[in-house]
Amino acid sequence: MSKKPIFEKLALIGIGLIGSSISHVVRREGLVGSISVSSRSEKTLTRAKELGLGDEYAASAADAVKDADCVIHCAPVGAGAAIAEAIAPELKPGAIVTDVGSVKASVIAQMKPHMPKGVHFIAGHPVAGTEYSGPDAGFASLFENRWTILTPEDDVDRDALATLTKFWQACGANVETMDATHHDLVLAVTSHIPQLISYNIVDTAANLETVTQSEVMKYSAGGFRDFTRLAASDPTMWRDVCLHNKSAVLEILGRFSEDLTAMQRAIRWGDGDALFEIFTRTRHIRKDIIAVGQEIDAPNFGRDEPGE
Ligand code: NAP
Repeated sequence: MSKKPIFEKLALIGIGLIGSSISHVVRREGLVGSISVSSRSEKTLTRAKELGLGDEYAASAADAVKDADCVIHCAPVGAGAAIAEAIAPELKPGAIVTDVGSVKASVIAQMKPHMPKGVHFIAGHPVAGTEYSGPDAGFASLFENRWTILTPEDDVDRDALATLTKFWQACGANVETMDATHHDLVLAVTSHIPQLISYNIVDTAANLETVTQSEVMKYSAGGFRDFTRLAASDPTMWRDVCLHNKSAVLEILGRFSEDLTAMQRAIRWGDGDALFEIFTRTRHIRKDIIAVGQEIDAPNFGRDEPGE
Protein backbone atom coordinates (compact mmCIF):
# COMPACT_ATOMS: atom_id res chain seq x y z
CA MET A 1 0.00 0.00 0.00
CA SER A 2 1.68 3.22 -1.13
CA LYS A 3 -0.58 5.81 0.52
CA LYS A 4 -0.82 6.25 4.30
CA PRO A 5 -4.21 4.93 5.35
CA ILE A 6 -6.67 7.42 6.87
CA PHE A 7 -7.64 4.85 9.53
CA GLU A 8 -5.55 1.91 10.75
CA LYS A 9 -8.68 -0.12 11.49
CA LEU A 10 -12.21 0.42 10.20
CA ALA A 11 -15.20 -1.44 11.66
CA LEU A 12 -18.34 -1.90 9.56
CA ILE A 13 -21.44 -2.75 11.58
CA GLY A 14 -23.82 -4.10 8.96
CA ILE A 15 -22.57 -5.22 5.55
CA GLY A 16 -25.37 -4.70 3.05
CA LEU A 17 -25.38 -2.40 0.02
CA ILE A 18 -23.74 0.54 1.80
CA GLY A 19 -21.36 -1.39 4.07
CA SER A 20 -20.07 -3.54 1.21
CA SER A 21 -19.70 -0.50 -1.09
CA ILE A 22 -17.56 1.19 1.59
CA SER A 23 -15.47 -1.97 1.85
CA HIS A 24 -14.91 -2.07 -1.94
CA VAL A 25 -13.92 1.59 -2.24
CA VAL A 26 -11.62 1.72 0.82
CA ARG A 27 -9.79 -1.35 -0.46
CA ARG A 28 -9.48 0.07 -3.98
CA GLU A 29 -8.16 3.38 -2.67
CA GLY A 30 -6.08 1.95 0.21
CA LEU A 31 -7.87 4.13 2.76
CA VAL A 32 -7.61 1.81 5.79
CA GLY A 33 -5.13 -0.67 7.23
CA SER A 34 -7.74 -3.34 7.95
CA ILE A 35 -11.50 -3.83 7.99
CA SER A 36 -13.47 -5.71 10.62
CA VAL A 37 -17.01 -6.67 9.72
CA SER A 38 -20.01 -7.68 11.77
CA SER A 39 -23.55 -8.46 10.73
CA ARG A 40 -26.66 -9.47 12.61
CA SER A 41 -27.05 -12.86 10.92
CA GLU A 42 -24.53 -15.62 10.41
CA LYS A 43 -25.72 -15.98 6.82
CA THR A 44 -24.75 -12.41 5.85
CA LEU A 45 -21.45 -12.63 7.74
CA THR A 46 -20.57 -15.87 5.92
CA ARG A 47 -21.41 -14.25 2.58
CA ALA A 48 -19.28 -11.21 3.46
CA LYS A 49 -16.41 -13.61 4.20
CA GLU A 50 -16.89 -15.39 0.86
CA LEU A 51 -16.78 -12.02 -0.90
CA GLY A 52 -13.65 -11.00 1.04
CA LEU A 53 -15.23 -7.78 2.30
CA GLY A 54 -13.22 -7.73 5.53
CA ASP A 55 -9.97 -8.82 7.13
CA GLU A 56 -11.68 -9.91 10.35
CA TYR A 57 -15.25 -11.05 10.96
CA ALA A 58 -17.02 -10.78 14.31
CA ALA A 59 -20.32 -12.28 15.37
CA SER A 60 -21.04 -9.26 17.57
CA ALA A 61 -20.75 -5.53 16.91
CA ALA A 62 -18.93 -5.14 20.24
CA ASP A 63 -16.16 -7.52 19.13
CA ALA A 64 -15.87 -5.86 15.72
CA VAL A 65 -15.17 -2.37 17.11
CA LYS A 66 -12.26 -3.38 19.38
CA ASP A 67 -9.20 -1.24 18.46
CA ALA A 68 -11.07 0.40 15.55
CA ASP A 69 -10.19 4.03 14.76
CA CYS A 70 -13.42 4.47 12.84
CA VAL A 71 -16.73 2.66 13.30
CA ILE A 72 -19.51 2.99 10.72
CA HIS A 73 -23.03 1.87 11.60
CA CYS A 74 -24.33 0.56 8.26
CA ALA A 75 -27.51 -1.14 9.53
CA PRO A 76 -31.08 0.23 9.28
CA VAL A 77 -31.77 3.49 11.09
CA GLY A 78 -33.90 1.86 13.80
CA ALA A 79 -30.96 -0.27 15.01
CA GLY A 80 -28.91 2.77 16.16
CA ALA A 81 -29.64 2.70 19.90
CA ALA A 82 -29.03 -1.04 20.32
CA ILE A 83 -25.79 -0.89 18.30
CA ALA A 84 -24.51 2.16 20.23
CA GLU A 85 -25.28 0.54 23.58
CA ALA A 86 -23.57 -2.70 22.55
CA ILE A 87 -20.36 -1.13 21.19
CA ALA A 88 -19.91 1.65 23.79
CA PRO A 89 -17.81 -0.36 26.32
CA GLU A 90 -15.40 -1.54 23.60
CA LEU A 91 -14.77 1.74 21.78
CA LYS A 92 -11.19 2.93 21.59
CA PRO A 93 -10.58 6.41 23.08
CA GLY A 94 -10.30 8.92 20.23
CA ALA A 95 -12.24 6.71 17.80
CA ILE A 96 -14.68 8.25 15.33
CA VAL A 97 -18.16 6.71 15.33
CA THR A 98 -20.43 7.55 12.41
CA ASP A 99 -23.30 6.11 10.40
CA VAL A 100 -24.80 6.13 6.91
CA GLY A 101 -28.50 6.31 7.80
CA SER A 102 -31.02 8.11 5.62
CA VAL A 103 -32.40 9.97 8.67
CA LYS A 104 -30.15 12.01 10.95
CA ALA A 105 -31.86 13.58 14.00
CA SER A 106 -33.17 10.22 15.21
CA VAL A 107 -29.79 8.50 14.77
CA ILE A 108 -28.08 11.23 16.81
CA ALA A 109 -30.72 10.91 19.54
CA GLN A 110 -30.34 7.12 19.56
CA MET A 111 -26.54 6.89 19.47
CA LYS A 112 -24.92 9.98 20.98
CA PRO A 113 -26.07 9.46 24.59
CA HIS A 114 -24.24 6.10 24.64
CA MET A 115 -20.90 7.47 23.41
CA PRO A 116 -18.11 7.44 26.01
CA LYS A 117 -16.11 10.61 26.69
CA GLY A 118 -13.26 10.97 24.20
CA VAL A 119 -15.09 9.15 21.38
CA HIS A 120 -16.14 11.42 18.51
CA PHE A 121 -19.64 10.82 17.21
CA ILE A 122 -20.52 12.48 13.87
CA ALA A 123 -23.64 11.36 12.00
CA GLY A 124 -23.51 11.09 8.21
CA HIS A 125 -25.47 10.12 5.12
CA PRO A 126 -24.06 9.20 1.72
CA VAL A 127 -26.87 10.26 -0.62
CA ALA A 128 -26.26 7.39 -2.99
CA GLY A 129 -27.99 4.08 -3.38
CA THR A 130 -29.78 1.54 -5.48
CA GLU A 131 -32.86 -0.62 -4.97
CA TYR A 132 -30.68 -3.66 -4.24
CA SER A 133 -29.57 -4.78 -0.79
CA GLY A 134 -27.26 -7.25 0.93
CA PRO A 135 -23.49 -7.84 0.75
CA ASP A 136 -23.52 -8.78 -2.95
CA ALA A 137 -25.09 -5.44 -3.92
CA GLY A 138 -22.13 -3.16 -3.18
CA PHE A 139 -19.72 -1.62 -5.70
CA ALA A 140 -16.72 0.68 -5.35
CA SER A 141 -18.06 3.58 -7.44
CA LEU A 142 -21.36 4.01 -5.55
CA PHE A 143 -20.30 7.25 -3.85
CA GLU A 144 -18.49 8.80 -6.82
CA ASN A 145 -19.59 12.38 -7.45
CA ARG A 146 -22.52 11.89 -5.07
CA TRP A 147 -23.04 13.97 -1.93
CA THR A 148 -22.27 12.76 1.56
CA ILE A 149 -23.96 14.95 4.13
CA LEU A 150 -22.40 15.13 7.60
CA THR A 151 -24.52 16.53 10.42
CA PRO A 152 -22.05 17.47 13.18
CA GLU A 153 -23.33 19.11 16.33
CA ASP A 154 -21.95 22.31 17.85
CA ASP A 155 -19.60 20.44 20.22
CA VAL A 156 -17.97 18.45 17.36
CA ASP A 157 -14.22 17.85 17.48
CA ARG A 158 -12.93 19.80 14.45
CA ASP A 159 -10.05 17.41 13.77
CA ALA A 160 -12.38 14.41 13.80
CA LEU A 161 -14.75 16.22 11.41
CA ALA A 162 -11.83 17.05 9.09
CA THR A 163 -10.68 13.40 9.12
CA LEU A 164 -14.18 12.06 8.38
CA THR A 165 -14.59 14.63 5.60
CA LYS A 166 -11.27 13.53 4.09
CA PHE A 167 -12.38 9.89 4.31
CA TRP A 168 -15.60 10.47 2.36
CA GLN A 169 -13.83 12.64 -0.20
CA ALA A 170 -11.31 9.84 -0.70
CA CYS A 171 -14.29 7.52 -1.31
CA GLY A 172 -15.19 9.81 -4.24
CA ALA A 173 -17.95 11.82 -2.56
CA ASN A 174 -18.57 15.53 -2.34
CA VAL A 175 -19.04 16.42 1.32
CA GLU A 176 -21.42 18.96 2.82
CA THR A 177 -22.27 19.66 6.44
CA MET A 178 -25.83 20.43 7.47
CA ASP A 179 -28.03 20.66 10.54
CA ALA A 180 -29.62 17.25 11.20
CA THR A 181 -33.22 18.50 11.27
CA HIS A 182 -32.71 20.39 8.03
CA HIS A 183 -31.20 17.27 6.44
CA ASP A 184 -34.30 15.30 7.43
CA LEU A 185 -36.62 17.85 5.82
CA VAL A 186 -34.58 18.09 2.61
CA LEU A 187 -34.38 14.30 2.29
CA ALA A 188 -38.09 13.95 3.01
CA VAL A 189 -38.69 16.00 -0.17
CA THR A 190 -36.01 14.48 -2.39
CA SER A 191 -36.07 10.86 -1.28
CA HIS A 192 -38.58 9.76 1.34
CA ILE A 193 -41.78 11.11 -0.27
CA PRO A 194 -40.88 9.89 -3.81
CA GLN A 195 -40.30 6.48 -2.23
CA LEU A 196 -43.70 6.56 -0.49
CA ILE A 197 -45.42 7.68 -3.69
CA SER A 198 -43.81 4.76 -5.52
CA TYR A 199 -44.91 2.23 -2.91
CA ASN A 200 -48.38 3.74 -3.04
CA ILE A 201 -48.88 3.78 -6.82
CA VAL A 202 -47.55 0.24 -7.22
CA ASP A 203 -49.82 -0.95 -4.41
CA THR A 204 -52.80 0.89 -5.94
CA ALA A 205 -52.17 -0.86 -9.26
CA ALA A 206 -51.84 -4.20 -7.50
CA ASN A 207 -55.20 -3.71 -5.78
CA LEU A 208 -57.18 -2.71 -8.89
CA GLU A 209 -60.07 -4.96 -9.75
CA THR A 210 -60.98 -3.67 -13.22
CA VAL A 211 -57.45 -3.70 -14.65
CA THR A 212 -55.80 -7.10 -14.49
CA GLN A 213 -52.32 -7.73 -13.05
CA SER A 214 -51.18 -9.02 -16.44
CA GLU A 215 -52.28 -5.74 -18.09
CA VAL A 216 -50.31 -3.78 -15.48
CA MET A 217 -47.17 -5.84 -16.31
CA LYS A 218 -47.73 -5.79 -20.08
CA TYR A 219 -48.20 -2.03 -20.44
CA SER A 220 -45.80 -1.00 -17.67
CA ALA A 221 -43.58 1.13 -19.95
CA GLY A 222 -46.06 3.98 -19.43
CA GLY A 223 -44.37 5.46 -16.36
CA PHE A 224 -45.37 2.71 -13.96
CA ARG A 225 -42.12 0.85 -14.60
CA ASP A 226 -40.03 3.69 -13.14
CA PHE A 227 -42.06 3.57 -9.93
CA THR A 228 -41.56 -0.19 -9.63
CA ARG A 229 -37.79 0.31 -9.44
CA LEU A 230 -38.13 2.40 -6.28
CA ALA A 231 -40.93 0.22 -4.92
CA ALA A 232 -38.59 -2.79 -5.09
CA SER A 233 -36.38 -1.28 -2.33
CA ASP A 234 -35.75 -2.93 1.00
CA PRO A 235 -38.91 -2.82 3.19
CA THR A 236 -37.02 -2.80 6.52
CA MET A 237 -34.91 0.17 5.56
CA TRP A 238 -37.89 2.18 4.38
CA ARG A 239 -40.11 1.25 7.32
CA ASP A 240 -37.39 2.62 9.61
CA VAL A 241 -36.94 5.79 7.52
CA CYS A 242 -40.68 6.59 7.73
CA LEU A 243 -40.93 5.91 11.44
CA HIS A 244 -37.74 7.79 12.31
CA ASN A 245 -38.40 10.81 10.10
CA LYS A 246 -42.05 11.01 11.06
CA SER A 247 -42.56 14.76 11.43
CA ALA A 248 -40.73 15.80 8.22
CA VAL A 249 -42.39 13.03 6.21
CA LEU A 250 -45.85 14.01 7.50
CA GLU A 251 -45.15 17.71 6.82
CA ILE A 252 -44.12 17.10 3.20
CA LEU A 253 -46.87 14.52 2.64
CA GLY A 254 -49.39 17.15 3.79
CA ARG A 255 -48.08 19.64 1.22
CA PHE A 256 -48.02 16.96 -1.45
CA SER A 257 -51.67 16.07 -0.77
CA GLU A 258 -52.68 19.75 -1.02
CA ASP A 259 -50.91 20.13 -4.38
CA LEU A 260 -52.41 16.88 -5.63
CA THR A 261 -55.87 18.10 -4.63
CA ALA A 262 -55.25 21.32 -6.58
CA MET A 263 -54.35 19.25 -9.65
CA GLN A 264 -57.43 17.08 -9.16
CA ARG A 265 -59.55 20.22 -9.04
CA ALA A 266 -57.93 21.60 -12.21
CA ILE A 267 -58.75 18.37 -14.05
CA ARG A 268 -62.32 18.31 -12.70
CA TRP A 269 -62.97 21.92 -13.82
CA GLY A 270 -61.14 21.57 -17.12
CA ASP A 271 -58.53 24.17 -16.13
CA GLY A 272 -55.97 23.29 -18.80
CA ASP A 273 -53.96 26.47 -18.22
CA ALA A 274 -53.31 25.53 -14.58
CA LEU A 275 -52.21 22.02 -15.60
CA PHE A 276 -50.02 23.35 -18.42
CA GLU A 277 -48.34 25.81 -16.06
CA ILE A 278 -47.49 23.09 -13.50
CA PHE A 279 -46.24 20.65 -16.15
CA THR A 280 -44.03 23.35 -17.71
CA ARG A 281 -42.51 24.33 -14.35
CA THR A 282 -41.66 20.75 -13.41
CA ARG A 283 -40.11 19.96 -16.78
CA HIS A 284 -37.12 22.15 -15.96
CA ILE A 285 -36.25 20.29 -12.76
CA ARG A 286 -34.78 17.26 -14.55
CA LYS A 287 -32.73 19.51 -16.80
CA ASP A 288 -31.37 21.24 -13.69
CA ILE A 289 -30.48 17.88 -12.06
CA ILE A 290 -28.54 16.90 -15.19
CA ALA A 291 -26.88 20.33 -15.25
CA VAL A 292 -25.47 19.89 -11.72
CA GLY A 293 -24.08 16.46 -12.65
CA GLN A 294 -26.39 14.36 -10.49
CA GLU A 295 -27.87 12.49 -13.47
CA ILE A 296 -27.11 11.68 -17.07
CA ASP A 297 -29.30 12.57 -20.01
CA ALA A 298 -30.24 9.00 -20.93
CA PRO A 299 -33.55 7.15 -21.07
CA ASN A 300 -34.50 5.47 -17.79
CA PHE A 301 -31.81 7.62 -16.09
CA GLY A 302 -29.20 5.37 -17.68
CA ARG A 303 -29.96 2.51 -15.30
CA ASP A 304 -30.36 -1.14 -16.11
CA GLU A 305 -33.69 -2.70 -15.39
CA PRO A 306 -33.96 -4.45 -12.01
CA GLY A 307 -32.84 -8.04 -12.44
CA GLU A 308 -30.45 -7.29 -15.29
P1 NAP B 1 -28.97 -3.65 3.58
O1 NAP B 1 -28.31 -3.89 2.26
O2 NAP B 1 -30.34 -4.19 3.80
O3 NAP B 1 -28.01 -4.21 4.75
C1 NAP B 1 -28.36 -4.01 6.09
C2 NAP B 1 -27.29 -4.55 7.02
O4 NAP B 1 -27.70 -4.23 8.35
C3 NAP B 1 -27.12 -6.07 6.98
O5 NAP B 1 -25.80 -6.40 7.32
C4 NAP B 1 -28.07 -6.52 8.09
O6 NAP B 1 -27.69 -7.72 8.72
C5 NAP B 1 -27.89 -5.42 9.12
N1 NAP B 1 -29.09 -5.29 9.98
C6 NAP B 1 -30.39 -5.29 9.58
N2 NAP B 1 -31.19 -5.11 10.65
C7 NAP B 1 -30.38 -5.00 11.73
C8 NAP B 1 -30.63 -4.80 13.11
N3 NAP B 1 -31.86 -4.66 13.59
N4 NAP B 1 -29.54 -4.76 13.94
C9 NAP B 1 -28.29 -4.88 13.46
N5 NAP B 1 -28.00 -5.06 12.16
C10 NAP B 1 -29.04 -5.12 11.31
O7 NAP B 1 -29.05 -2.09 3.90
P2 NAP B 1 -28.37 -0.84 3.17
O8 NAP B 1 -29.14 -0.53 1.93
O9 NAP B 1 -26.91 -1.05 3.11
O10 NAP B 1 -28.74 0.32 4.21
C11 NAP B 1 -28.00 0.50 5.39
C12 NAP B 1 -28.19 1.91 5.88
O11 NAP B 1 -27.80 2.81 4.84
C13 NAP B 1 -29.63 2.29 6.26
O12 NAP B 1 -29.62 3.02 7.43
C14 NAP B 1 -30.09 3.16 5.11
O13 NAP B 1 -30.99 4.15 5.58
C15 NAP B 1 -28.79 3.78 4.64
N6 NAP B 1 -28.76 4.15 3.23
C16 NAP B 1 -29.26 3.29 2.29
C17 NAP B 1 -29.25 3.64 0.94
C18 NAP B 1 -29.83 2.72 -0.11
O14 NAP B 1 -30.11 3.15 -1.22
N7 NAP B 1 -30.03 1.45 0.20
C19 NAP B 1 -28.70 4.87 0.55
C20 NAP B 1 -28.13 5.70 1.53
C21 NAP B 1 -28.17 5.33 2.86
P3 NAP B 1 -28.25 -9.17 8.33
O15 NAP B 1 -28.26 -9.23 6.83
O16 NAP B 1 -27.19 -10.04 8.93
O17 NAP B 1 -29.59 -9.30 8.95
